[in-house]
Amino acid sequence: MQTKHIAIVGSGLVGSLLALYLRKRQYTVTVFDRRPDIRTIEFSGRSINLAMSVRGWKTLDRIGIGDEVRKLAIPMHKRTMHITDQPIYHQHYGKDGEAIYSIPRGILNKKMITLAEDAGVTFRFNEKVWDIDLPEAKLYTGESEKSEWTSYQYDMIFGCDGAFSRVRHKMQRRSRFNYSQKFLNTGYKELGIPPNADGSHQLDKNSLHIWPRGEFMLIALPNLDGSFTCTLFMPHEGEHSFENLTDDVVVTKFWEQYFPDTIDLMPTLLEDFKNNPTSALVTIKCYPWTYWNKVALVGDSAHAIVPFYGQGMNAGFEDISVLDEIIEKLGDDRWEEIFETYQKARKPNADAIAELSYRNFIEMSSKTADPDFLLRKKIEKRFAEKHPQKWIPLYSRVTFSHRPYAEALEIGDQQALIMDKVMSMNAINDLWDSDEVEHYMLDHLENNHLANTTKAKLI
Ligand SMILES: Cc1cc2nc3c(=O)[nH]c(=O)nc-3n(C[C@H](O)[C@H](O)[C@H](O)COP(=O)(O)OP(=O)(O)OC[C@H]3O[C@@H](n4cnc5c(N)ncnc54)[C@H](O)[C@@H]3O)c2cc1C
Repeated sequence: MQTKHIAIVGSGLVGSLLALYLRKRQYTVTVFDRRPDIRTIEFSGRSINLAMSVRGWKTLDRIGIGDEVRKLAIPMHKRTMHITDQPIYHQHYGKDGEAIYSIPRGILNKKMITLAEDAGVTFRFNEKVWDIDLPEAKLYTGESEKSEWTSYQYDMIFGCDGAFSRVRHKMQRRSRFNYSQKFLNTGYKELGIPPNADGSHQLDKNSLHIWPRGEFMLIALPNLDGSFTCTLFMPHEGEHSFENLTDDVVVTKFWEQYFPDTIDLMPTLLEDFKNNPTSALVTIKCYPWTYWNKVALVGDSAHAIVPFYGQGMNAGFEDISVLDEIIEKLGDDRWEEIFETYQKARKPNADAIAELSYRNFIEMSSKTADPDFLLRKKIEKRFAEKHPQKWIPLYSRVTFSHRPYAEALEIGDQQALIMDKVMSMNAINDLWDSDEVEHYMLDHLENNHLANTTKAKLI
């Protein structure tokens, strides 16, 4: 049988990893990207840092590159909370040894492109795709929308071209294609904390640091070189907003008021604030994700989500391992069926992680400093430790499990109802670690048949 020729639009994290997967299945793979080769670009060392969790690692391990990528990552076992006028405290993410991993997006992307190239994938950088002929699996590239285009014919095309996908744009013009995009009022800006003079980290390096301040928050993720990449999430407009942080004097005053403990850590704050763009956050949903046996969307092009659960890339990588499992099961000549199975399997989960990510924004920015919320988490944690088979906290279901996101959302909602009842018990502040609360939760779980019913529905 002749090998199929496959084009991938986008050499981002998802496109380059998918290229490696398809190449390992002996396809001839060409990746187009409108950008220059990221490996040739001088980085300042500060780009978005991503938190990789088990779904991402599974996809990397499945193709044998997990250990190489682990060398680029720093484990973060806990959140370190910096609440105004309170001592710093820690919240462990999972059980002993469980961690999410901080990894710079640019460094990861470079690594993935090199691994794919070494495996025989062809990359065509500086080549923007302007149009796609869906039934023919043809794509058109060129200097500009109006310039002369070059056409390329393939057997299949994968759109891994991110949130504002050109491939999806073409699919959107078809009848019965559903599409929605919703921007948050909150945007983000990247800032930096440099290393100490001896190259060590200025803050605990095995933590994700959070300074929650209600409507806005600052977070910091560690880098291997001793620095931290910080992100300020804040409304675009309003009282505390990017719009109002207009000059050095205002930014300095704002920082002194809300993040005084970081001032000495951030000597380039004003420079970073001026030089780095303020970016928007968007949730994008669409369906279908595939066209016949010709075209499929994978990663952010199919489901862009806000970053508050740290799952965008993880979800995109999970798309790839699910797709690969389906190919394994159905055989690699039934592509229409493969695509159909893939989109049906992934769509409910993409919608679920979109919802969970949005909710986590509220949790991270405002609730993590709220005493009721902290008590609730303490009760849940105690119960989960005593009854690990009966209660897996939502965060662990999303971050440290391979079960579907849709299942995590559904069980999480049922757990939330039980916790609402627990929190309304008389004198809960005193009773929180009592047998009474424990039995109350066990009774409610029993009545809900929570774990069992959900499992039956979703497996
Ligand atoms: C602030 C922030 C923090 C985040 N934190 C996390 C986290 O902690 N954990 C996590 O899992 N995820 C996180 N994410 C999400 C993660 O960054 C994305 O989900 C992931 O990068 C998506 O990868 P992708 O390859 O699908 O798309 P992209 O990375 O957007 O790549 C798309 C590629 O397609 C190319 N392209 C686009 N259009 C064309 C065209 N017409 N022709 C040719 N090439 C084209 C682009 O140049 C680009 O290289 C975060 C996102 C943000 C914004």
